[in-house]
Amino acid sequence: MEKFDLPQVAARLAELEKESCLLEPDVQLREKILKRAERYADEFLQKIQSLPMYVEDKKENAVAFRSPDFDSPIDIDDALNILKEDVDRPGLNPASGKHLGYIPGGGIYYSAIADYLAAVANRYAGVFFASPGAVRMENALLRWMADIVGYPETAAGSLTSGGSIANLTAIVAARDSHEIPAKDFSRVVVYLTSQVHHSIEKALRVAGLGECIKRNVSCDERFRMKPDALEASIVSDKESGLRPWLVVASAGSTDAGVVDPLVEIGDIAHKHKIWYHIDGAYGAFFALCKEGKEILRGIEKSDSLVMDPHKGLFLPYGSGAVLVKDRAHLLRSFSHYANYMQDALTPLDEISPADISIELSKHFRGLRLWLPLKLLGVAPFRAALEEKLLLARYFFEKVQALPNVEVGPLPDLSVVTFRFVPARGNADEFNKQLVNEIRRDGRVFFSSTMLDGKFVLRCAVLAFRAHRQVIDEAIEILRKKSEILMRST
Ligand SMILES: *Cc1c(COP(=O)(O)O)cnc(C)c1O
Repeated sequence: MEKFDLPQVAARLAELEKESCLLEPDVQLREKILKRAERYADEFLQKIQSLPMYVEDKKENAVAFRSPDFDSPIDIDDALNILKEDVDRPGLNPASGKHLGYIPGGGIYYSAIADYLAAVANRYAGVFFASPGAVRMENALLRWMADIVGYPETAAGSLTSGGSIANLTAIVAARDSHEIPAKDFSRVVVYLTSQVHHSIEKALRVAGLGECIKRNVSCDERFRMKPDALEASIVSDKESGLRPWLVVASAGSTDAGVVDPLVEIGDIAHKHKIWYHIDGAYGAFFALCKEGKEILRGIEKSDSLVMDPHKGLFLPYGSGAVLVKDRAHLLRSFSHYANYMQDALTPLDEISPADISIELSKHFRGLRLWLPLKLLGVAPFRAALEEKLLLARYFFEKVQALPNVEVGPLPDLSVVTFRFVPARGNADEFNKQLVNEIRRDGRVFFSSTMLDGKFVLRCAVLAFRAHRQVIDEAIEILRKKSEILMRST
């Protein structure tokens, strides 16, 4: 081993310090960078509604990321240019109010400011000991969500990166609460419908339950689970010695935006002692407004629930939430003791996210929800949600008035499905061409799905920037594009 040569080490340290200090910009540089970023954001927001909704990717967009080169630093302006041309341009423009496809996301500005502040202070939000304030803030937000859906004091939950991780968290808690040994996994039965989001199947697989029996409970004509069919299935499975374990209901299905009969399913789950999970990633926050609360009646009967602030509260992506009615189930699945955490034991009155979730070090997600709620109050969120419900109804009426249109079920929440049935030719083909043509046109964005084996278009209203004018424009575009397409077929 080399001898410790103090002068040599000191010289090297000085060199390293000089270089590593570049990680800390001085006040002038901070100002410059922040101004540039601010200008970039302002320009984006000024133009957002006029930017094309979809831009095809080009080979050139890949150049900046080919053979990753991180050895030759570039200027902030050059970096922002790459962001603009190669990241913020190609693909979908989901922050626009004209995003009427999939389940639109949000991106409210207040959250961006909160993210900036959260990143600067970089509070350690995983454990109470490290950041009591951050943990209290997140727990208060979760308590607020629990109140929205009528969960009792015993409930707890965590802010996740999205609905998929939230569903996984709930499914793991459900698995452990029923103490299902691995050898029984193939006898365990899960009840769901064809409309359940695919993240549930993924979660089952990740939780080791890929081999469990999945009963596809039949739906009514509006794609909602039939309670009778559910109960019949449970009874028959019990009789054949299987282990009914979990029922998953959708509170706002992705395809058609419908809500399963939550009260009836809850009663059946309770009677047969099976875990009741509701996937409300898309729809649960509609409980904030009166109309939505009525549709979501029975949501409080569930044992666990997922709700995505990056959908129903218009936050930027990376914001989901899971709630479990009895926190003991979460603690049982996720709390662990490790020696290196011995200083960080949590007082019992404040639960640490690390003790009830998969994560340890985590993004301080709470701030991006807390800041807008505190600055604005709940009222604008509530109004926006009611507005989306009404806009969907408005679209539903308007689209039916177009020639040759067939609509899906009356929307429970804010998704409308519809298709054109031209006098001649194949309807699936026609609608496929139409959705592609609208994407190429770029003024609005719809997505499509298969319902009952038919190719249908979806209008999903959840973008916070979507107002009546957007719907009127979308209807006009549908009218014109379908007319042209009919003439050419
Ligand atoms: C979006 C969605 C999910 C998945 O949530 P992510 O946040 O995308 O991971 C799950 N269930 C439903 C009903 C959804 O709409």
